[in-house]
Amino acid sequence: MKYNIKIYDTLTGKVVDFVPVKEDEVKIYLCGPTVYNLIHIGNARPIITFDAFRRFLEYIGYKVTMVQNFTDIDDKIITQSYKEGVSFEKIARRYIIEYWKDMVDLKVRAFNFHPKTSNYIEEIVRYIEILIEKGFAYEVENGDVYFNVRKFDKYGELSHRDTNSMISGSRIEISTYKKDPLDFALWKASKEGEPCWESPWGKGRPGWHIECTVMATEILGDSFDIHAGGNDLIFPHHENERAQALASEKQFAKYWMHNGMIQLAQSKMSKSLGNVWLVRDLLKQFDSDVLKVFIFSKHYRVPIDISEDLLRAQEISVNRVKQSLKESEEYFQGFVPYSKEGEYFKSQEEYLLKNLANDFNTPSAIARLFDLSKELNKALNSKNESMIVDNYYLIRNVYGSLFGIFESSRSVEEYAVEVDDLIKVLIEVRTTLRNNRLYNLSDYIRDTLNQLGIEIKDTSEGTKYNFKSNKSEV
Ligand SMILES: [Zn+2]
Repeated sequence: MKYNIKIYDTLTGKVVDFVPVKEDEVKIYLCGPTVYNLIHIGNARPIITFDAFRRFLEYIGYKVTMVQNFTDIDDKIITQSYKEGVSFEKIARRYIIEYWKDMVDLKVRAFNFHPKTSNYIEEIVRYIEILIEKGFAYEVENGDVYFNVRKFDKYGELSHRDTNSMISGSRIEISTYKKDPLDFALWKASKEGEPCWESPWGKGRPGWHIECTVMATEILGDSFDIHAGGNDLIFPHHENERAQALASEKQFAKYWMHNGMIQLAQSKMSKSLGNVWLVRDLLKQFDSDVLKVFIFSKHYRVPIDISEDLLRAQEISVNRVKQSLKESEEYFQGFVPYSKEGEYFKSQEEYLLKNLANDFNTPSAIARLFDLSKELNKALNSKNESMIVDNYYLIRNVYGSLFGIFESSRSVEEYAVEVDDLIKVLIEVRTTLRNNRLYNLSDYIRDTLNQLGIEIKDTSEGTKYNFKSNKSEV
């Protein structure tokens, strides 16, 4: 690989060289949503961030395998199913479908695997049995099974916390059956009427943390490259995932990447606080390009303050870029000729990739995007065609591929290749017709193409064509 990638690794607490477990391949696990509601912009940040990180890795030639789970067994889903009087599966299915609608609108690609917890119960039960065998987990009288945190001496390494100073706080479940407040549930005995599965400890369901350890290792293997998620998951969720994996002698993730939170009115955006901005509602007001440029304009690790005013300001600058793209298309009457990239194109692309290789420095990429848009405007004013083409395709194709922004509905490059191929086929047919003296038909092809703005010329080197709107001969 040409690019020396550096990432901030939460475990070591510093920016480190990224060396994948297997050369040229990167395996990533990203914690996904609990499917009981529509997703808000805070849920969307890790998805948008790591979708782009994956695009970057693929762009520079890595084969990426990425997994994002759906948590479809959870108290919140069960509560919602009671409220509506329907099964938990129905709630989960509904919000998984809604999730995909939002992803399509955000122009986020599906990852390679999207496993659901309910499809991994057998594997989870087997995993818990191993933890019990190894002495890291214990069953209690009501049928719950807990992980014995004090037995695992590396506990706290990821979140850089000392077990003695840990307090039972956010998302640490309180239970009278636990030996220690830090212990967490691997298996929960089911209460009357709750969804449940058979297990050696009676009817119950898995705890939250075990599902990710199991699905990550089942799909990616015992050792993979990056475990990712929002930094609100570092403790206890990721600390617990890692404890379960290492206790069962799996190497698990080599690196841990975490994104910062999105803050609205100075408080963490969370459904429980009621200050929720649903992706769906935001996309009614703002284009996905505006939301994504806004998010990428800050480094993924820092918190983002979001407000309508800030988004409106971003919208103005994003619209300027769109305007310059539109003017380029108008200049070339709808079809900007694709050219083999020259020095300028290569050096801009190189700059961008180097910055992204440096702990995914998207703010510099976004700053450069606006520079390119200015260059494009200058080129339009001075009618510098090669600069129009280069800047246009840098934004449309390179930013399009890397971030899923400013994309046309189809890749313009793909479109250009198809048009070119089709015209060549027509020219071959016309030549064959002429060779057989079927001039009526060969002239029909020439005249019809001419009406479509494609000029056919027979030269000593064979038949050539050009678009009448520009003079680039093919
Ligand atoms: Zn997880």
